[in-house]
Amino acid sequence: MTTELGLPSLRGGASRDPARPADPRLVDGFGRVATDLRISLTDRCNLRCTYCMPAEGLDWMPREEQLTDAELNRLIALAVRDLGIEELRFTGGEPLLRKGLEEIFSAASALEPRPDISLTTNGIGLARRAGALAASGVNRLNVSMDTLRPERFAQITRRDRLSDVIDGMAAAHAAGLSPVKINAVLLRGVNDDEAADLLEFALTHGYQLRFIEQMPLDAQHGWRRTEMITAEEILARLEERFVLTPSDEDRGGAPAERFVVDGGPATVGVIASVTRPFCGACDRTRLTADGQVRTCLFATGETDLRAMLRGGATDAEIADVWRDAMWGKKAGHGIDDPGFLQPARPMSAIGG
Ligand code: SAM
Ligand code: SF4
Repeated sequence: MTTELGLPSLRGGASRDPARPADPRLVDGFGRVATDLRISLTDRCNLRCTYCMPAEGLDWMPREEQLTDAELNRLIALAVRDLGIEELRFTGGEPLLRKGLEEIFSAASALEPRPDISLTTNGIGLARRAGALAASGVNRLNVSMDTLRPERFAQITRRDRLSDVIDGMAAAHAAGLSPVKINAVLLRGVNDDEAADLLEFALTHGYQLRFIEQMPLDAQHGWRRTEMITAEEILARLEERFVLTPSDEDRGGAPAERFVVDGGPATVGVIASVTRPFCGACDRTRLTADGQVRTCLFATGETDLRAMLRGGATDAEIADVWRDAMWGKKAGHGIDDPGFLQPARPMSAIGG
């Protein structure tokens, strides 16, 4: 059922892997349990961040390949009801570009037990929509912003929209979607001198900042290990202005290492996917906009649930194939392995 990318997707049956324990949850062979479902709502985007996609954009997924709202709602309900999913994180591409997303959130928030619902967005159009998002059941937002300087924002995203993002965060905060989390990627020679300024901004506004190490997930395959800004460098730059102490809060499956800033209560996070991988505690499963389950951002294989949905499979059959897929999750992403292969799909098509 799981296919390596590049091969045609297969319609799967309900053949359970005999080695998998009779646990209804998404357990894997390394003792992890996935309770956090990351859902890509679309691969399309209205920005063109240099570390994510080329200036001309990508060949977007044909509409008919994308899950319909009804298909998506069915998979989400099944995941919460039958697979033990507790958190739904919606992303993309740019999730705010998906029509009718508030209805998807409303349906998800009516599920029992009620999942925690969050959204990762670039913030374009958020100022207008924050109230409706909060009303539809979204609990929290992550907004991506790598710089506070408009000309740099235009350089990084290839669009001059920084003020929209800043207004979007303020609207989200005012709508009660808090704490607003900011995701920032630092790029050498571009914005790597802004770590402390970004933290100052977050502290002033009551937002939570998290830096993400740049990962080999860009469509252009331009990532170089030797050029990326490491967690160590990020922390060193922050410590030029702030006193950071490692937080003693239990991190659980959270990807961000948290540090208390100047004695607290504010914290800053660093997601060091490359230099300090947290795969051993990973609690994620992923669903692409075209209905493929992925066990990891860096997985090279996918499991086709869309073909099952469209081929008349029952919920029980789909749930079992999803469990089998997760049972086969690898121990780690292997970025440091000599044979590491960047996945065929870029971050924007997987759902970052
Ligand atoms: N478009 C939305 C946004 O930008 O927030 C959601 C999708 S985006 C792929 C999700 C997150 O992935 C963003 O915070 C973005 O900065 C981050 N991201 C994209 N490409 C990345 C890369 N190559 N390495 C690390 N983070 C990346
Ligand atoms: Fe779009 Fe997000 Fe990728 Fe930037 S990081 S191009 S906003 S999907």
